[in-house]
Amino acid sequence: MWCLENLSQIVTLDAAHSKDGRNLKPEDLSIRPNCSIVFDEHRILWIGNIIQIPDDYKKAKRIPLEGHVLTPEIVDSHTHLVFGGNRSKEYSMRLNGADYEAIAKAGGGILSTMESTITATEEELYKAGLERIERMASYGIGTIEIKSGYGLSIESERKISRVIHKLKEYFSPRIQILSTYLAAHAVPGSFSTSKDYLDRVVLPLMQELSDEKIIDFVDIFHEQGYFNLEDTKTLFSKAKILGLKLKIHADEFNDNKGAVTACEHQALSADHLLCTEDDGIKALSQASTVATLLPGTAFFLGKKLANARRFLDEGCKVAIASDYNPGSCHCDNLVLLASLSAKKLELNLCELWSGMTLNAAHAVGLDQQGAIKLGLKPRFSLFKCQSIDEVTYNWGRNLAVSTQEYFPAH
Ligand SMILES: [Zn+2]
Repeated sequence: MWCLENLSQIVTLDAAHSKDGRNLKPEDLSIRPNCSIVFDEHRILWIGNIIQIPDDYKKAKRIPLEGHVLTPEIVDSHTHLVFGGNRSKEYSMRLNGADYEAIAKAGGGILSTMESTITATEEELYKAGLERIERMASYGIGTIEIKSGYGLSIESERKISRVIHKLKEYFSPRIQILSTYLAAHAVPGSFSTSKDYLDRVVLPLMQELSDEKIIDFVDIFHEQGYFNLEDTKTLFSKAKILGLKLKIHADEFNDNKGAVTACEHQALSADHLLCTEDDGIKALSQASTVATLLPGTAFFLGKKLANARRFLDEGCKVAIASDYNPGSCHCDNLVLLASLSAKKLELNLCELWSGMTLNAAHAVGLDQQGAIKLGLKPRFSLFKCQSIDEVTYNWGRNLAVSTQEYFPAH
């Protein structure tokens, strides 16, 4: 049992939690100044002024934390961080004016990531993953979703899912990893149709990895020229039979009714949503499916950001994730991305923090965290500052403090 004593602020998100992360006002952050908290390995036991600590909790290990702010744990609910190689050359080419075709001709694009991922050994991918995850943890991120999807063959997708599973085992319980099976990321040229690829690779391997219990969720790149509505429905209904939860890359380049389909199938989240029309937004507002926005991708590619207010004002649960990947957003720092994009997305401070914590946790099915409330799991992020205002105000300056040195069970 631990007692974090005299924190400058505990940002509880108590009211935001009661409102299911929707229609949030700045005061729904429910900030408690000069506050202390007691918890054991499993749940939060007490929150209050240290002079009123109940006798039962006086034996807890006391950790003085004046000058620190505690928030619910930051969750990055959408990453593709297991990949080989890097695409820095391509990024420079793009800055220098090269178009998609010129980049492809020079050997860039997603095919180059596939090539480097397929030729990398399991050990090499694992080591790269370890480093990337430790760096993300240093920003205060404690739960990370990772997608496969740069293999696109039975052998390579199996390898990537195994690497993600090994990372999950290594980091548990300090960092929670969720493994998403995204073999339906693109259709390899050797298959004549998306259905053919789905039937011969995606579905059989999903069955195998599900039997091995090494994947948590399935995802699909539902987009014109990639996977159509029929493919998505087939994948979703087979995944449901296996007890796997659903995610979707939805409406990124066109409104393909991805958000509507996600809600019909009770998906955990629908992600991207740049082109979602009114029917999709309405469906999301009435479903438990989280609307996940990925502003880093728009920044990286120099595109327009999603219209977050349309989703928020309609009462959707909105999360923000990094989309950390080598091609369209090589940024691992969700706190930086959220700070940079908040004004453009017109988020108030509670929408911003719920997007990184409460709603992001729900986007990966973790409904026992995301707020600092009695009975919930003790999953926190800790910052060395006097006020929550300082965290997102200091663009690119890392105020996070490792929680491990204070309470190792975390
Ligand atoms: Zn993605």
